[in-house]
Amino acid sequence: MKKYKIALIKGDGIGAEIVEEAVKVLDSISVNSGFELDYKEYLMGGAAIDVEGVPLPDETIKGAMDADAVLFGAIGGEKWDSLPRELRPESGLLKFRKALNVYSNLRPVSVYDELINASTLKSEIIRGVDLMVVRELTGGIYFGEPRGREGDKAFNTMVYSIDEIKRIAKVAFEVASKRRKKVCSVDKANVLDVSQLWRDTVEEVAKDYPDVSLSHMYVDNAAMQLIRDPKQFDVMLTGNIFGDILSDEASMLSGSIGLLPSASIGGNTAIYEPIHGSAPDIAGQGVANPIATIASAGMMLRYSLNEIEAATKIEEAIKKALSDGYRTQDIASFDAKEVCSTSEMGSIIANFASKL
Ligand code: NAD
Repeated sequence: MKKYKIALIKGDGIGAEIVEEAVKVLDSISVNSGFELDYKEYLMGGAAIDVEGVPLPDETIKGAMDADAVLFGAIGGEKWDSLPRELRPESGLLKFRKALNVYSNLRPVSVYDELINASTLKSEIIRGVDLMVVRELTGGIYFGEPRGREGDKAFNTMVYSIDEIKRIAKVAFEVASKRRKKVCSVDKANVLDVSQLWRDTVEEVAKDYPDVSLSHMYVDNAAMQLIRDPKQFDVMLTGNIFGDILSDEASMLSGSIGLLPSASIGGNTAIYEPIHGSAPDIAGQGVANPIATIASAGMMLRYSLNEIEAATKIEEAIKKALSDGYRTQDIASFDAKEVCSTSEMGSIIANFASKL
């Protein structure tokens, strides 16, 4: 039987609760689908700071590099917010993405028909939304130098090289060529030099993809258009900070940030994680929605392990749980037949998946 090595990083806050449910679902289908998953747990974020004094221990990087894929929860929390920036959980995650060279973050946003009323937007605006944010993940203002604080000023630098833009643009065009063949590149070229380079370089890359249409949109307009008419988008190509913000916004099209998965790819080992954070406000209460993480596990099967049938089982099981009326608290007010806890939702999806 095929055996895959999975590095599990639960992290902080709701991280452990949601990753455990994703593992439950994976375990419910793996053996019947003809493969075994060999999990090894590693520390990151606040959990690592408490034990090792640093947010990203070397062992975690080594373990991840040695694995076939990383399944990740979330990191961060108030307890560590007063530490110097380099020692905070978030710095560990940024370094981790850089170390694994996962420069490309894929964030699919689709609206489950069953939750059409869960969004704050009108159903006719969001029914049928199916877009993919392709976000650059290891460059831009989150990594640029110089950065720091001097006297009464603080500064960061938004920097991109042509090579960095080219490789993420290629990912966007490749993804679009397997979808509805439209790329909308988001920038702020009317104000930022780095955005003008972004736009010029994306235009160059587009020449290699004559079947894919390219448009450009300023980020402020994109934020507005996402709410006005989200169905116009197929693939949205963005730099690091713009994608971070726009994909949180886009998550609300689906009704809850607890529903959306992501894949961070580009290096040898990919990272699969929900788009949300560690949600300290609900940690330990058993109310977190595990679907984003379970769907991330599905993306892991599809993109890193090439277990397409098993990935489809997870996607179908999530839909069935929702269409049967099972809801966690964040989506509870919408056509709920039964409001369930984090672990009940995991068990329901695992049970459905095992029968597919
Ligand atoms: P957050 O995404 O953790 O939470 C935002 C809101 O969404 C909260 O009200 C939370 O309860 C809710 N929410 C998030 N996930 C949910 C889920 N699965 N089910 C139900 N509700 C959910 O963002 P935040 O509050 O801005 O940040 C909290 C901490 O997480 C901070 O320390 C931040 O730095 C960190 N963070 C980590 C990541 C990551 O690990 N990738 C990403 C974003 C933020």
